This record gives sequence, structure tokens and C-alpha cells, in this order.
Amino acid sequence: MRLRDLPSVDELSRGVDDPLAVNAARAVIARAREEIRAGADPGDLRGRLREELERVRRPALRSVLNATGVLVHTNLGRAPLAEGALARVRDAAGYSNLELDLTTGSRGSRHDHLAPLLRRLTGAEAALVVNNNAAAVLLALAALAHGREVVVSRGELIEIGDGFRIPEVLAQSGARLVEVGTTNRTRAADYEAAIGPETALLLRVHPSNFRVVGYAERPRVDELAAVARRHELPLVDDLGSGALVDVEGEPTPAAALAAGADLVCCSGDKLLGGPQAGIVAGRADLVERLRRHPLQRALRPDKLTLAALEGTLALALERPGEIPVLRMLREPGEAVRARAKRLATAVGGTVEETVGRVGGGALPLAELPSFACAVEEELAAALRAHEPPVVAVVRDGRTLLDCRTLTDAEADEVAAAVAAVRSRR
Ligand SMILES: *Cc1c(COP(=O)(O)O)cnc(C)c1O
Repeated sequence: MRLRDLPSVDELSRGVDDPLAVNAARAVIARAREEIRAGADPGDLRGRLREELERVRRPALRSVLNATGVLVHTNLGRAPLAEGALARVRDAAGYSNLELDLTTGSRGSRHDHLAPLLRRLTGAEAALVVNNNAAAVLLALAALAHGREVVVSRGELIEIGDGFRIPEVLAQSGARLVEVGTTNRTRAADYEAAIGPETALLLRVHPSNFRVVGYAERPRVDELAAVARRHELPLVDDLGSGALVDVEGEPTPAAALAAGADLVCCSGDKLLGGPQAGIVAGRADLVERLRRHPLQRALRPDKLTLAALEGTLALALERPGEIPVLRMLREPGEAVRARAKRLATAVGGTVEETVGRVGGGALPLAELPSFACAVEEELAAALRAHEPPVVAVVRDGRTLLDCRTLTDAEADEVAAAVAAVRSRR
């Protein structure tokens, strides 16, 4: 095809009954012009117009198949929701009793629905849910320490990723940071020496995405709690990941509260395996101060988040194996190998031993034995462009389709995607 053979926008879009047809035809012709100039043949323009119309109508935020072996993948929406949690979301999406007390018929609070479940799971007197854990930490500091001092170990002044830095969040809350100890060693006595008339609370922060090894020391929660009690100050423990059940020895809210923390904060969509949310649990008087703070209104969760979290918490209590993050974390390597083998047989790939990761800034050292199906490197980009998109890992000249983060049914979808993109090459 030569440039002068290209149809006009009018000609290409004529007879296509679609309000977006003219704009789409313009885009198709512009691309065809570039291809002809580069010496390529643009092919069937009517077909490309149909594809362009499909493309512009596709939702921007879409479901993808996670073949990376990273369970809580930050770029892929962190934790996938359990079916049970999703059912609650569908149920609450219409009208719901979000702020209605069905017994009295008077106004209720959105914060009351999850409190009993959270109390059972953490042993706390009271709990509050906000939009994410960053919001939980900000609200706790703003409500309890505005204009006063917060004592934090130099070993815990962390950055989580995407610019969430403890010293900056602390500054935004209106509190003043008092650093104690050193990067690798901080003792309970260091906190005690820094306490003065301006001190509002002691803050402990989970190191999350890094570890200090070797000559390192950090006080236990009960040691810090003893210091806090002696000075009648609250101890706030930002646990980060939010493991409610035992996951590789991660601290649980229940354990931190039992050891004497007055308030704990954690994420809903890391190891907890639920929706993006922040949970604050602990002493009733402190939770009440957070609830009454004006920022609470700006940070409160919507009904969909609350429904998804309630569903996830109910599973954590009774059937944790149905929470996808926990299921993937605990699946034996042999089962993952069998899935990789089936996928390799289906697409003519080879089975490779890999290492799965938790991701999301949690358990940075944990290596989950995993297996992938290896296929040609050139397929990676086409697989991402496929519908549904498949996100894999390119390493050593091959595309690795890691099977720890795929269910059996998803592995079948990946096999179909590989066949489809190969046939188009
Ligand atoms: C992840 C994390 C946060 C932020 O939680 P989001 O849910 O991402 O807002 C805060 N503190 C710690 C220790 C974390 O690990």
C-alpha cells in the first residue's frame, strides 16, 4: 500500500455505526501512514478500525494473570480477594445498613460492623478501620500526638515504597520526632532517657521491607510497654503487614497487644489477604480519640472496603485456607511443580525451579520454593498485551511463567494465552 492509497477518515469510518468511529479511524490512518513511511504494509484497515474501537472501550483497570511468583505484588493490586469476601462486596454494593441500626431504626455507625470480628481476632477492646495503613498511622499520630513529641528508634525510621516515610508522615501529623538509639542497636533504656514533659507516645515500627543482620538489637514489645507504663504513655506498634494468623513468625496484632502495646496498626491487603484498608486496634479510650478526630472523616473506608474486609476477617477466623494469599503461601512446592509441569506439557515449555516471594514489603527474606514453565523470551510483551494480560518474569533469555501465583484454572488460561500469541506471530 502507498500513502496515496490510504482512505480518508470519512471513507474508513463510513457505515460504521459508532460515535467513536471517526476518532478511531483518524488514529488507525495516522498509524498506517507511519508504517508505510517505514516501509511496512498496514494490512486490513477495516479490521484495524474494529480492533481500535474494541481497544478504546476496554476498561483501563483490568484483571491480569499473575505469573510472577510474587504473592502480594504491589504493581498488581497486592492481595487478590477471596471468593467469600467478593460475595460480601456484591451483597453490600447496593443499599446496605452502612449507617443504620436495624434494631432501633436510628442512625448507626459504619465503624460498628467490624468491631466484634476484630475484637475476637486481636483480643483488643476496640478497633477502627480506615483506608489504608498509612492513614491508620497518620490518624493515630494526629489524634494522640499533635504538637507533642513521638519517640522512635533510628533503626525504624523506614521508607516503605512510593515515598511513605515514617519521619514525613510524623511531620504531617503535627507531631515532633525524637530519634533514639542507632541504626542497628536501640535499647528500651534509650526510649526511657528521651521521655520528657512533651512526650506524647512511643512508636514502634515494623522494619517491613529490609532486615538488619549481625550486631543488631531492638527491644521486645513487652520491654517497651514496661517503659511506656512507667511514664503513663501509650505505646503504638505499627505492624505493617497485618498477619492475623501465624505466618513465618510475623508479629500478630493479638501478640503485640498481649505483650502490652496500647494500639496496633496494620494493612488489610498485605499478609492479611483482604482489601486495601488500615486497621487500628487496642485500648477503647485511644480508639475513641481517633474516631472523634476530624481527619477520621477524611480517612474513613467506604462500604465496599468494609464488606470485603468483613468477609476476609470471617475467613481468617474460620477458614484461613480460603484466603488466596495464605493458600499460595502454604501450598507445598510439589503441588506448584505439578501445575508447572501441566502448563509446560500444554505449551511445549520446560519446567524450571524458581523462588517465589511474598512481596508488598513483607517478609523480604522469605524464599518460597516455586516452579515456572519457561517459554520464549519474545512472548513476554505479547502476553502482557493479550486479553486477559499475563504478567511474567523475563530472565536469562526466557519468559518464566511462575505457577505459585496461579490457580489451576488460571494456568489453563495462561496456556491458552501462550497458544494465541504464538499463532499470531
Ligand atoms: C506497608 C506499611 C505501611 C503502609 O501501609 P499501606 O496499607 O500501604 O498504607 C505502614 N507501615 C508499615 C510498617 C508498613 O509495612
